[in-house]
Amino acid sequence: MGGNAGHSIANMAVKFKDYYESLGVSRTASETEIKKAFRRLAREYHPDVAKNKKQAEEKFKEINEAYEVLSDPAKRKKYDELGPNWRAGAEFRPPPGWQGFGGPGGSGRRGARGEEFEFQFGGTGFSDFFEQLFGSARRGGGQPRGGGSPFGQRGGFGAEETAGERGQDIEGDIMVTLEEAMSGSVRSVSVRHGSPCPTCGGTRQRGRSTCTTCSGTGEITRTETHQVKIPAGVSEGQRLRIPGRGGAGAGGATAGDLFLRVRLARHPDFEVEDHNLSYQADLAPWEAVLGTSISVPTLAGQVNIKIPPGTHNGQKLRVRGRGLPQRAGAAGDLIVITRIEVPDKLTEEERKLWEQLARTSRFRPRD
Ligand SMILES: [Zn+2]
Repeated sequence: MGGNAGHSIANMAVKFKDYYESLGVSRTASETEIKKAFRRLAREYHPDVAKNKKQAEEKFKEINEAYEVLSDPAKRKKYDELGPNWRAGAEFRPPPGWQGFGGPGGSGRRGARGEEFEFQFGGTGFSDFFEQLFGSARRGGGQPRGGGSPFGQRGGFGAEETAGERGQDIEGDIMVTLEEAMSGSVRSVSVRHGSPCPTCGGTRQRGRSTCTTCSGTGEITRTETHQVKIPAGVSEGQRLRIPGRGGAGAGGATAGDLFLRVRLARHPDFEVEDHNLSYQADLAPWEAVLGTSISVPTLAGQVNIKIPPGTHNGQKLRVRGRGLPQRAGAAGDLIVITRIEVPDKLTEEERKLWEQLARTSRFRPRD
């Protein structure tokens, strides 16, 4: 880490997000309640099923972001430390000393006088609030090529900088739905940069007078929008590199790169494990005993699978090739995990049938 203590976290204001409100649960909600609320909302707002797609997509991303924080005990604890008095939309800055989750967090960079040149993302699916507190948004050092890890060192855009230095790499998160990971997509991602004023070079002065380009702030703000290709088969944590879309180089040197770290959106039906998807199939006791055929969802429509007679609870049935694609052209599998559900209420007739079975059966599970 560079000698940037006390300045390591950018302190630009963002709008506070009330993640409990997003999921419609209380601050004391249990993990199970949070999961249930997420699944219900994710079903309702899943972009594939909702009627108003655009609006649903925004909401889907919001609940995903909320769930990413509240379903992770460490992140939830950290979030709770902010206190219960924050209102959604209130202007918020991370508290001093906040340690992010993505390494040296925050966004922005040091300028000639140690001030931060900020950047914010749009279209990634994550809010600025998330990026500030839990994201991997950060800037790499402006060190020359071949200087090891692009994020290992915080280079200054400052007095020590030499002419012709390559621009910084910057990094953020991008929320990718499983459908996008399945089929690939193109997303419009905008990056709002603060950068040193090209006229005065950040000195704020033009000769003896105030620089008019930047009105004496030494900084200008630009928004650049990039079409980012998300290839089919991307996986959690993979970094997409968009060359030359990072910070501008100094003295005519090349720009840095933009990196977007893939965070797969949670899906109401599937859990992701590498390239496999798992799905929990609930069965009636007689279906498990007698066997049956059931319809299960995949990312490309329903498929029928055979439940063999004598299927146990928690048994794993593999549907080959119905998981997420792998880059080599192969695909992962869909793992159907059985769960035997027991009826809560019985009619008089059903009770009689179960009682009859109980008297007749030779099954002795504890022998
Ligand atoms: Zn200027």
